[in-house]
Amino acid sequence: MQADPNAGADLQAPPVPRFIGSNIYRNSSYGRMHPLRVPRVPTVMDLTRAMGWVAPGQYLSSPRARPAALHAWHDPAYVAALQQAEADGAVSDAVRARFHLGTAANPVYPEVFRRPATAAGASILAGQLLRDGGVIHSPGGGTHHGLPDRANGFCYLNDAVLAVLSLRHAGASRVAYVDIDAHHCDGVEHAFACDPDTLLVSVHEERRWPFTGALTDRGAGQVWNLPVPRGFNDTEMRAVLDRLILPRVAGFRPDAIVLQCGSDMLEEDPLSRLSLSNNAHFDVVRALRPLSARFLVLGGGGYNPWSVGRCWSGVWATLNGHEIPDRLPPDAEAVLRGLHWSGHRHGKAPPDHWFTTLRDAPREGPVRPAITDRLRSLDARAASWV
Ligand SMILES: [Zn+2]
Repeated sequence: MQADPNAGADLQAPPVPRFIGSNIYRNSSYGRMHPLRVPRVPTVMDLTRAMGWVAPGQYLSSPRARPAALHAWHDPAYVAALQQAEADGAVSDAVRARFHLGTAANPVYPEVFRRPATAAGASILAGQLLRDGGVIHSPGGGTHHGLPDRANGFCYLNDAVLAVLSLRHAGASRVAYVDIDAHHCDGVEHAFACDPDTLLVSVHEERRWPFTGALTDRGAGQVWNLPVPRGFNDTEMRAVLDRLILPRVAGFRPDAIVLQCGSDMLEEDPLSRLSLSNNAHFDVVRALRPLSARFLVLGGGGYNPWSVGRCWSGVWATLNGHEIPDRLPPDAEAVLRGLHWSGHRHGKAPPDHWFTTLRDAPREGPVRPAITDRLRSLDARAASWV
């Protein structure tokens, strides 16, 4: 058992943020050619420690969710098939067709049940730990495409949905879910579109897989989707934060906020065409924090190992109020110099600042009409929303 850093704390003092990680992410990979062949969570674990940003008791090792806990949202037949796929190391054609396991996107790999069940365990634990308030960062979470009865978009289980259900079980009746991944959170919207007690706000790249998340989706009136065009910049994200994310979340008066903080909206990501710097992520984290007593920050997409590690380590610094230095100390730089990105041209000669800094240079730009027009249409809808 880890000591609880908040045990016996002064009730007036702000709770100490907690980080949920696991060494399972060090030893597993989706395979040599998959975008998720790169290390992500271990980089954040090692980089934040190298920075001296993890105090005793702040780090928790994630439990693995048991099948019964996964049945809170997932079909038992699917969970059993996922366990069997891990045991067998392969699936039949019938299982592949029914559960979308063993495909190029959702390969069968040695930890294909244990790894997603660990991310799910972290999200379920986070909901329980946040019962009395606090802040948790679980960068292994954010698998927002998972569906009740099949794998989808590199996601075998949907820990984000399980986080919301766990928070609710622990007494948070109104949960605001905000998603800034480059891809729309189709699995989460599938779960909660009809639930007026779960606010859903998603900003994602337009005309990109899974091709859901239309501006016109309303759900039960609490679904707010903003597809954004290629080249989406920091200035535009600030406009979206000020005009969409913060007013909708504040107006909802949530008991808890879940932020899916995917880093594939960053300019250097290989799977999308957006242009944010990681300052945009830090701004969203900082702005959402005061809006609820319970705050859970999950990971998500992000396929450039340097961008992901630097972004999510900076998110942890932001949650803790640590200053990010302009130049990293040698131990932290060594973590970033130890990364490899095979099979991608940017992995051959990474620019020096991917090793020596954590904060990107800002990427400001014009706020284009596509953004202002869509924000205006959502504003108009909000004005009539009761
Ligand atoms: Zn994504």
